[in-house]
Amino acid sequence: DLPEGAYDVVVLGGGPGGYPAAFDAADRGMKVALIDENPKPGGVCLRVGCIPSKTLLHVAKLLHEVEEAEQWGVHFEKPTIDLAQLREFKSGVVNQLTGGVSQLGKGRGVEIIEGRGTLTGSNSLTIKGPKGDERELHFGRCIVAVGSQPAVPKIFDIGDDRVMDSTGALELKDVPEKFLVVGGGYIGLEMGSVYAALGSKVTVVEMTDGLLPGADRDLVKPLQKRIEASFDRVLMNTKVESLKATDAGIDATLSSADGETTETFDRVLIAIGRRPNGKTCGVETTKAEVDDRGFVTVNRRMETADPNILAIGDVAGEPMLAHKATREAKIAVETIAGEDAVFDNRGIPAVVFTDPELAWVGLTETEAKRDGIKVTVSKFPWAASGRAQTIDRTEGLTKLICDPDTGRVLGVGIVGANAGELIAEGTLAVEMGAVAADLAETIHAHPTLSETLMESGEAVFGQATHF
Ligand code: FAD
Repeated sequence: DLPEGAYDVVVLGGGPGGYPAAFDAADRGMKVALIDENPKPGGVCLRVGCIPSKTLLHVAKLLHEVEEAEQWGVHFEKPTIDLAQLREFKSGVVNQLTGGVSQLGKGRGVEIIEGRGTLTGSNSLTIKGPKGDERELHFGRCIVAVGSQPAVPKIFDIGDDRVMDSTGALELKDVPEKFLVVGGGYIGLEMGSVYAALGSKVTVVEMTDGLLPGADRDLVKPLQKRIEASFDRVLMNTKVESLKATDAGIDATLSSADGETTETFDRVLIAIGRRPNGKTCGVETTKAEVDDRGFVTVNRRMETADPNILAIGDVAGEPMLAHKATREAKIAVETIAGEDAVFDNRGIPAVVFTDPELAWVGLTETEAKRDGIKVTVSKFPWAASGRAQTIDRTEGLTKLICDPDTGRVLGVGIVGANAGELIAEGTLAVEMGAVAADLAETIHAHPTLSETLMESGEAVFGQATHF
């Protein structure tokens, strides 16, 4: 018994979870509103996440290649960087994509509403517009897709804009001489790589004993070696105890087994993780549950404890990745449409867009060891790849993690140039339940890096041609 004008589906949050959900629902003939507090949908990913960071990382990679070309007898002048133009390039890409999302949405008949939405119950929410105007909306179903935000602990929140989160770092206000990155996860390493390429002396501080906690160590090794060469320092088992702003910079007190030291940096990036936004948009006025961290609890159909409320994307659980959000969007809309949908993907790829790139999908060797799962691991070092030799990037490694009895591919890990693109074949293998022989017996074009997947398939049988 909804009032007149009510929507079939309201999507709260216009990121890579929310906007595909709105599009899909509209394509199915539902009356849909998409609400985002920003003038253009696109979410963190398009505005201040995946897209601007990858734009800058592309430039960072180019700068590395220019340096490397010296060894091949190709000499460039030292590059000069016009920061304003670089910022413009980055903003142009973001505007192009967010503008495209708005247009696609309108074309499908999605009503895009700018404003901050707060649920007021299982069928309603209020929206506060950019000019402070408020309105109420009624809906049959709401898909909560409000995403996440950088976690910045109080001790680092010292009210000085030289201490930044990822959004601040992406603004690229200047190239600080000394740049401190707190956190050795993917966001810290990606942004550190950008600043290092532009000329900053970057120090990364990681609390645990390794970079990219969770990833297999043999994959991290070649990346770490290169990062240690291009960054000033990589400090493991080290904690940033406090930050203090002075005229000269930000004083950071670092502690490790060797004791405490205080150093001054020109800028600091806090990249220690992200906090889901489940507690910020009125979910508590519905029957849906939110856990202590701020994740909305969902089942594999993206349903919450409230039959009218679904949740997807970063706010619906780990891993907080754009492509996971988009897949969940499809499931949520299928669920609303009454289809027998469940999220049962066998693998969600993860890519770190550093140089080299690191990517994995499905079971990792680390997880197999931890959980006592018996696996066969086959590795193909890129030194044996013709293509890797031609681009002078032989430090890479491709590995398959297979079921020892059936040969089924349970996981794939790759470190090396373009690993982020190459992992797609591994993802398809894991998703389709391919066996190692499927990779081994598929003809791969020569000379390409994709042959490393074929050869690691052959290596399962001890039959790799080049290794
Ligand atoms: P979001 O993208 O967070 O979108 C939620 C939207 O809802 C936002 O626009 C927000 O402003 C809006 N909103 C929130 N609350 C309200 C409200 N109450 N009312 C109205 N609007 C609201 N992931 C990858 O897969 N690959 C990458 O390379 C990658 N790189 C990243 C780099 C950085 C620097 C960062 C920060 C993140 C990166 N991510 C990457 C993660 C990725 O951005 C997120 O996983 C993804 O954006 C999550 O999508 P979402 O739809 O769940 O939410």
